[in-house]
Amino acid sequence: MSTNQTATPAEGQATRVDVLVVGAGFGGMYALYKFRGMGLKTVGIEAGDDVGGVWYWNRYPGARCDLMSIDYSYGFSDEIQQEWTWSEQFAAQPEILAYANFVADRLDLRKDFKFNTRVTSARWDEEQNVWRATTDAGEVLEAPYCVMATGPLSIPKDPDIPGIERFKGELLRAQKWPHTPVSYAGKRVGVIGTGSTGIQIIQEIGPQAGELFVFQRTPSFTLPMRNHDLDADYVAEMKHHYPAIREACRNNPTGGARPISTRPFFSLPPTQRRQLMEQAWINGGHTFLGIFSDLMLNQDANDEVADFVREKIGEIVKDAKTAEALKPRGYPIFARRPCLDTSYYETYNRENVHLVDCKNDPIVEITEKGIRTQSGETELDMLIFATGYDALTGALLAFDVTGRDGISLKDKWKDGPTSLYGMMLNGFPNLFAVSGPNGPAALANLITIAEHDVDWIADMITHMDRAGVKSVEPTQQAEDAWMKLVAQLAEHSLIRKANTWWVGANVKGKPQGLTMFVGGFNKYRDHCLKAKQDGYADFVFDREKQSAAA
Ligand code: NAP
Repeated sequence: MSTNQTATPAEGQATRVDVLVVGAGFGGMYALYKFRGMGLKTVGIEAGDDVGGVWYWNRYPGARCDLMSIDYSYGFSDEIQQEWTWSEQFAAQPEILAYANFVADRLDLRKDFKFNTRVTSARWDEEQNVWRATTDAGEVLEAPYCVMATGPLSIPKDPDIPGIERFKGELLRAQKWPHTPVSYAGKRVGVIGTGSTGIQIIQEIGPQAGELFVFQRTPSFTLPMRNHDLDADYVAEMKHHYPAIREACRNNPTGGARPISTRPFFSLPPTQRRQLMEQAWINGGHTFLGIFSDLMLNQDANDEVADFVREKIGEIVKDAKTAEALKPRGYPIFARRPCLDTSYYETYNRENVHLVDCKNDPIVEITEKGIRTQSGETELDMLIFATGYDALTGALLAFDVTGRDGISLKDKWKDGPTSLYGMMLNGFPNLFAVSGPNGPAALANLITIAEHDVDWIADMITHMDRAGVKSVEPTQQAEDAWMKLVAQLAEHSLIRKANTWWVGANVKGKPQGLTMFVGGFNKYRDHCLKAKQDGYADFVFDREKQSAAA
């Protein structure tokens, strides 16, 4: 493979590399390793001061991954998976960040990342066939290939509530948590947000805070995690079988080693359905999602499962009014991201924990002293936002990206993001996204997706190198056909029936719609593989030369 050696630029000149990778999360780390291993001069840019991406930033109390640690880890290197040992079934953020650091050390990744640096613009130069990117450090980088590993959940979002700047107490954001210890003892703490993040924070600090006030607008369904330490025998067995486990993950709709079922809910008599649900509740984790085949396709089946979980909430939470307010209604279960907890509902049985039901008592404003809802003011010493992200597209639209003929990404995506496989875009040659919109993104294990996407991009670059071509983009027809498939699949899924970040509903003015491939990671992988087997027939190579010849 040909390489371009980095020449130290004279002042004002660009640093020339082969591949520019944006982001040092799990996608960016693997991308840097992979392309460097192909002999390509690769440089990564990262806003944080170290690797880890979302796990670098999200240091909030109770932060934990609700995918099993054996799945939520790299499979590309047998040495790494043999050397690293997970301590828990579901790893906590410090352990995941330690793992990211271990990988970075092991593969010597840091030397090729520029930390504390943000890309401020990226523009395709059609004459030179390079992406030219500027950074907030004033540097200009040029690379034929630009890989956006910016993550689907990396642009935090404050709530749209007036008065945030007036609050005189401590204001903390889950996704930008301080790197120093935070004390809740004796304090009146308020939390806004009851998604996966809020649930983890609430159950963790409920027992520590003086008083905890949870301002809940939409309750989420959460299932028991049943986390536990991993014993040495199990770890040894798992390591022995890692290659087969990884292969199973790659062939699973979730990108993880989770059971899936071909059994529709109503194919079983009521007593057996009940037994299966009880067992899934006891087993914990996301096993619930794998016991019936049609939970996201059949509203009646979904309703029965939702009733079952509401019943469990009623059994755990002692105060009937609080229990009722915690029971999600009006949207299908699992149409908001299913959460896993260790003691979430139990936390509301504590005398110092208070649920403020903002459906009936909406937040009016944030004041100097706390939060004013319609019924009055709650004074707080500390306020925590767990209010989510401008997801999927936010990070890609956070700076100016300009493709062929001066088209900006913002313009291309003004009615919603379009792409082929979530990885490539017509009009944006040699620009690749890892886990981008219209791929399986947040519906499957992001590390499995990242490894897949980076490998696919690497195959494309190898193909181009061998063919001696300098630029590639998908045809408009291919992109349109993919978007049609994404929309058709979404049409049949109950996922689109809830107002969540999955459909862009959490950001004012954002185009609405489910822009993820809901067909399952395994099917997504088949589509991507077929593109390669078909000799990349859906792509245009060296468009300029082709137009000149025509
Ligand atoms: P989220 O699911 O978007 O939840 C945001 C919460 O903030 C919602 O409850 C939302 O209520 C509330 N909110 C926003 N604005 C509000 C306002 N003005 N007033 C009252 N409430 C307001 O965000 P998240 O919890 O950070 O989770 C995002 C994703 O990150 C998850 O879905 C998951 O994919 C990932 N994550 C995973 C884990 C894990 O592995 N365990 C942990 C954390 C996060 P409404 O719904 O009413 O808007």
